[in-house]
Amino acid sequence: MMKTDLRGEILEPGTEEYAAASGSLFASGSPAFVVRPGSVADVRAAVTFAASWKLKLSVRGGGHAFAGFGTNDGGIVVDLSRLAEVALTDKDRHIVRIGGGATWGQVATALAPHGLAISSGDTRSVGVGGLTLSGGIGWKVRKYGLALDSLVAAEVVTANGEFVRASDEENPELFWALRGGGGNFGVVTAFEFAAHPTTDVFHGRIAFPAAEAGAVLPGWADYMRTAPDELTSIASFANPFAGGAQAPVEVHVAFDGDDAARVARALDPIRRLGTVLDDNVARKAYGDVLVDGLVPPPGFRFVSRGAFVDKESVPDALRVLIELGASGRSPAIAVRSVGGAVSRVPGDATAYAHRQAELMVTTATVNQEQTETWERLGPYVNGAYANFLSSATAEDVTAIYPPETYRRLAAVKRQYDPDNLFAGNHNIQA
Ligand SMILES: Cc1cc2nc3c(=O)[nH]c(=O)nc-3n(C[C@H](O)[C@H](O)[C@H](O)COP(=O)(O)OP(=O)(O)OC[C@H]3O[C@@H](n4cnc5c(N)ncnc54)[C@H](O)[C@@H]3O)c2cc1C
Repeated sequence: MMKTDLRGEILEPGTEEYAAASGSLFASGSPAFVVRPGSVADVRAAVTFAASWKLKLSVRGGGHAFAGFGTNDGGIVVDLSRLAEVALTDKDRHIVRIGGGATWGQVATALAPHGLAISSGDTRSVGVGGLTLSGGIGWKVRKYGLALDSLVAAEVVTANGEFVRASDEENPELFWALRGGGGNFGVVTAFEFAAHPTTDVFHGRIAFPAAEAGAVLPGWADYMRTAPDELTSIASFANPFAGGAQAPVEVHVAFDGDDAARVARALDPIRRLGTVLDDNVARKAYGDVLVDGLVPPPGFRFVSRGAFVDKESVPDALRVLIELGASGRSPAIAVRSVGGAVSRVPGDATAYAHRQAELMVTTATVNQEQTETWERLGPYVNGAYANFLSSATAEDVTAIYPPETYRRLAAVKRQYDPDNLFAGNHNIQA
């Protein structure tokens, strides 16, 4: 094989385009080539090239992995950004075909004129690829589940360069693994989702004084347990960039519907949790709820972690978080309610293994470890959410995948990628 066997746009060191494309959002890199395929044939050529030369291979969707997966040193980066077409292929069943390098902003923009949306994340620049393959928790999660719960098929270039389709009918074990197993099994060149009709939604923030965290947060968690599925909510507090221990408790809400009276009824119990300092909940188009991602400045090391809280541990986990928040030594904390539709999918239906959880805790710091936080939370949390991990250690992989899930994923890895070509991820060993 020679370099001329590569196809698509090929960027090499020494050009401005290469300099702009060599890194991903949270990692710099110096790959030998960045390839931007424009077709499945281009992807197959890049995968075959990397396999033949035993080069490191990084597959980049939106390039937003906190663990910096989308680049490497000396290998190949397959940057899928040119495969970003979004097409409504079946108007009756709302089937949408999305290129493997599209972002959720592109999807929201393309689907809005059809009155459709897909349960995804909260940021426009995040890739459909990475978010979906490991979960996808966004503003419609309690109504429609994870992003991967809306996936009906995927088209994949596997490690031996073959092009296969995975769905409940075709290669079902691969389809199971793709829904939670991350980028371990091949390059997804296109995703097919069943989208959902959407109206405008109600979205915004209801803020309470930091001193009321001890009442607001447990009250919020109790309410979300039985709140209507249309309501998805994230409580954030102790944000070091907004006053640390004095930062307000912000209850972010998105109500999936435009009936103002129903929304008011659903939000009333939240508004009565404490002294409302600020309430900017307003009617918006779903696409306007998504925010633009920030580009971190050079030298910025973002440390983040996400883990799950089961019902019986909610009071203790919140108590620890509230104590940490008040101490002034805490990371930024966000607690997401993830029950609803997520928990109604059987545990073994996909490789996402944390459906029983009521809450997901995420913490974030800049250039700073979070050892104390997670040591104290340890007894009350379980698992880990791959998409919010800025690290990719063996312990992380064990936390993401319980033993039975891991065994099943390893069997799929043996079938589709026995030599571990796709290793730039929370890696499953064959
Ligand atoms: C600002 C910001 C906001 C976020 N908000 C949310 C949120 O609301 N909800 C949520 O659940 N997560 C959220 N995340 C986390 C996000 O889901 C992960 O960072 C995810 O990995 C991003 O996917 P990507 O395609 O952009 O990243 P990449 O770095 O390109 O890819 C991540 C992993 O997926 C693999 N991959 C990507 N595309 C493909 C493909 N087509 N085929 C095969 N493998 C592929 C890559 O090889 C890599 O291993 C957010 C992240 C950021 C930075």
